Amino acid sequence: MTSTSITPTTPAAAATAVQAPVGAASATVSPNAAMAGQSFDYDILIIGAGAAGLTAAVYTTRKKLKTGVISIDVGGQTNLTSNIENYPGVDAMHGAMLMQAFLKQATSFGASLVMGKVGKVENLNPGFRVNLKDGQKLTCKALILAFGKVPRTLGIPGEDNYFGKGISTCVTCDGPLFNGKDVVVVGGGNSAIEGALEMSHIAKKVYLVHRRDKFTADAVTVDKLKKAGNIEVVYNSVCTEVKGDRFVRSVTVEDVITKAKRDLPISGMFLEIGFIMDISMLDGLGLQVNEKKEIVNDMRCNTNVPGIFAAGDCTIIPYKQTVISAGEGAKAGLEAHRYLTGAKGISLDWDH
Ligand SMILES: Cc1cc2nc3c(=O)[nH]c(=O)nc-3n(C[C@H](O)[C@H](O)[C@H](O)COP(=O)(O)OP(=O)(O)OC[C@H]3O[C@@H](n4cnc5c(N)ncnc54)[C@H](O)[C@@H]3O)c2cc1C
Repeated sequence: MTSTSITPTTPAAAATAVQAPVGAASATVSPNAAMAGQSFDYDILIIGAGAAGLTAAVYTTRKKLKTGVISIDVGGQTNLTSNIENYPGVDAMHGAMLMQAFLKQATSFGASLVMGKVGKVENLNPGFRVNLKDGQKLTCKALILAFGKVPRTLGIPGEDNYFGKGISTCVTCDGPLFNGKDVVVVGGGNSAIEGALEMSHIAKKVYLVHRRDKFTADAVTVDKLKKAGNIEVVYNSVCTEVKGDRFVRSVTVEDVITKAKRDLPISGMFLEIGFIMDISMLDGLGLQVNEKKEIVNDMRCNTNVPGIFAAGDCTIIPYKQTVISAGEGAKAGLEAHRYLTGAKGISLDWDH
């Protein structure tokens, strides 16, 4: 797979991209017409019942497209935030409650939920077959990929107990909960350094635990760490155990060279050690991904494979947040409808 970006770089290129999206249908014969007479289980199948997938389902079902949402769970990563405060228009609530509202809305318009893990997607050209690990096989005319990503964790004692009780994988989301407290950020990449810098404005003290003796991030970013004043970098060290009562109280760090251990008293712990992207289900489709295995899509959520759209955290879109995934899901739903029917855009949505 290549890592070529299809993001337009000039206003002119952007305008062209809007008129001729990467995987867009031909203007004369819509794929729906080309597939007439063939039998498919669904018009649209969506992989993932997180913010992106469930929002896409709201849009496709309201366009009267028979829609199935296949997912391992309902809610995805948003379930992991005990208090989502930045979803516009709703009071702070548990992420799982917000996601149940998404599900209720999508199913109220007719979306079917199919619980299970997708193992392989095949291009039937036209249409797609989605094979679930439990043996179910479902076909569709168009596919929306919204399977998100899974934050990497350390796998150390105490981690599972205190996830959501002091341990988080998202500084942007949960950082403000630790105003004036001491926290640890774990990791050595750009997101760990940026996370530590962001927390230095919120927390009293920030420990940045890095298993190596230097950072790979650019020098300017690393310099900012030194200037911050309240960041202590703990080099050559790994976290070995998280301890606490109802909430995190300390983390044990071990020097990988001397093997010396010490407990850092903290209230919050941010794991900024990357994400696991499992795209093995897409093998053989020729789908373009970047070096992080994120799916390359354009501003209308087209991928390079006609009939496959992608939205949310599984894509190259920056700022991975629930509201952003929801917005991207809406775009993917509208674009899939446009692909299948040749409809010209959202204006039709008001014609009820
Ligand atoms: C701890 C934490 C706290 C966060 N807090 C906030 C916050 O406060 N505010 C905010 O805006 N954002 C927050 N985020 C980020 C936000 O949760 C994500 O950006 C958002 O959930 C992405 O939505 P998504 O639908 O793109 O993907 P996901 O939420 O990852 O959903 C993907 C779905 O796909 C399913 N899936 C994956 N693989 C398969 C497969 N092979 N077969 C079938 N189904 C599959 C999963 O089960 C899941 O249901 C937080 C993230 C974390 C980890």
